[in-house]
Amino acid sequence: MPDISFKKFDVESTFLDPRLDFQRTSVKTQVRLDPLTGRTGHYSHFGAITPQQLDLEKYLEQQGKEFCPFCSALREELTPKFPGEIIPEGRLARGEALLVPNLHPYDVYSSVCIMTRGHVVPLAQFSYEHLHDSFSLGFDFLKRVKAIDPSLPYQIMGWNYMPPSGGGLIHPHQQYFATGNPGNQFKDELRASERFYESCQRDYWLELIDIEQRNNQRYIGQLGDSHWLTSYVSMGVMGEILCVFPRVYCLDDLTAANISELIAGLQRIFNYFGQAGIYSFNATLFFGPEGQRFFPAHFRIVPRTFLNTRDYATDMNFFQVMLQEPVSVVWPEDLCREVKKFF
Ligand SMILES: [Zn+2]
Repeated sequence: MPDISFKKFDVESTFLDPRLDFQRTSVKTQVRLDPLTGRTGHYSHFGAITPQQLDLEKYLEQQGKEFCPFCSALREELTPKFPGEIIPEGRLARGEALLVPNLHPYDVYSSVCIMTRGHVVPLAQFSYEHLHDSFSLGFDFLKRVKAIDPSLPYQIMGWNYMPPSGGGLIHPHQQYFATGNPGNQFKDELRASERFYESCQRDYWLELIDIEQRNNQRYIGQLGDSHWLTSYVSMGVMGEILCVFPRVYCLDDLTAANISELIAGLQRIFNYFGQAGIYSFNATLFFGPEGQRFFPAHFRIVPRTFLNTRDYATDMNFFQVMLQEPVSVVWPEDLCREVKKFF
């Protein structure tokens, strides 16, 4: 019977250090195995990367010179509309949020949710309404798509915030799409969760929450039905925060309370980001296919930064891109301790 275990390899590298008059010096690093998928991640270069401050004022100045299709006066004129058979009203609107088709779609049903009227929205200025209206529109879109075309079993929310994350537009926006091909990470986790369930008759994610609560090293806290923790293997250079909704096995299980819990957690993380000087992130929310009881919805958020703003070096290199291997300079246990102060 497989169980959840936290495996790691401690690695030590020895060299003659010029900073210490060429004395023999050893540096310790670690490789961890994800307890679900077995995929590895490297921990090294501790404390070497400091999040870089972004000049948000500069983005505001550029707004006048550069074209933004999401800005107030233009967005109704310049963004596409859905055909009547998908969204009869063409677009979905709620408060400041507007959900439109992606001009550069990733799949059959691919949308962009413009979250705010404002072009540059610092994390501290995201209101509960901005987040609530955007998430609600996105989930509403995914539910509608599911009703008209149940052939695509997976639903994803993706969010690139600010340029270090790969966000092509400063103007806050999320992406919501339904797909049959949700990506390697999703598929690996889904398959591994199913295997775990078949051999143990237990939901891996519930077990994980239980173990992490008891270990109390990576468990951040509980908000309503949502559980927040740092991942044993971080996908980001500066760590990763994971939120699991244990009872949400498919999109239709998501309640209004769950949306509020998601926002409540996110606002706490934004407060942490503010204190830690983090200006950019990637986030995803995965929904599993209907009819299973082993893959609950989960949200992930990973801070992103330029390594420096002199050359705009990114925080991804051959490790992530070519070896598909996450590298992190922050211990999940340390990140958990820091984030917990905000929960
Ligand atoms: Zn704009």
